[in-house]
Amino acid sequence: MRIAGLLRESVVDGPGVRFVVFGQGCPHRCPECHNPETWDPAGGVRQTPREIMREIRRAPAVVKGLTLSGGEPFQQAAEMAELARRAREKGYHVTTYTGYLYEDLAAKAESDEGIAALLAATDLLVDGPFIAAAKDIALRFRGSANQRLIDLAASRQAGKVVLLPDEATG
Ligand code: SF4
Repeated sequence: MRIAGLLRESVVDGPGVRFVVFGQGCPHRCPECHNPETWDPAGGVRQTPREIMREIRRAPAVVKGLTLSGGEPFQQAAEMAELARRAREKGYHVTTYTGYLYEDLAAKAESDEGIAALLAATDLLVDGPFIAAAKDIALRFRGSANQRLIDLAASRQAGKVVLLPDEATG
């Protein structure tokens, strides 16, 4: 898989302290995107899920979560899913960012195993494109008010989108 970068400790990319993997390649082209260097799917460096997992295991013990960011993680859904699955097996909570809407991914998952696997291996999904007009720096873990914090386990159980309340994200 192609990676734009790794961040060993972050407190702004999901609940708690997290290891962040920035995937390379993004088709969304959001105006005022903060990471345009991640757009080119041929950029970045190549690393396997197994290699990245080794890096995660070397992170400080305070790191309890893995965040898949971008770029667009669903551009490389099968490999991102493998990494997420390995991380969950070791007890890490997985947050995945996407510029797509959850409903669109859920529909695509019916014919795309990689997308289905990444949704299945994600605990918290932050969905929707960054919209500059809806930018709000007071929001937790996301840049614009249209983006949602979706509790995927609860959503799967309820059969509808269940949002994580902001007060539950600290
Ligand atoms: S989805 Fe994220 S990385 Fe992609 S263009 Fe939008 S803000 Fe940038």
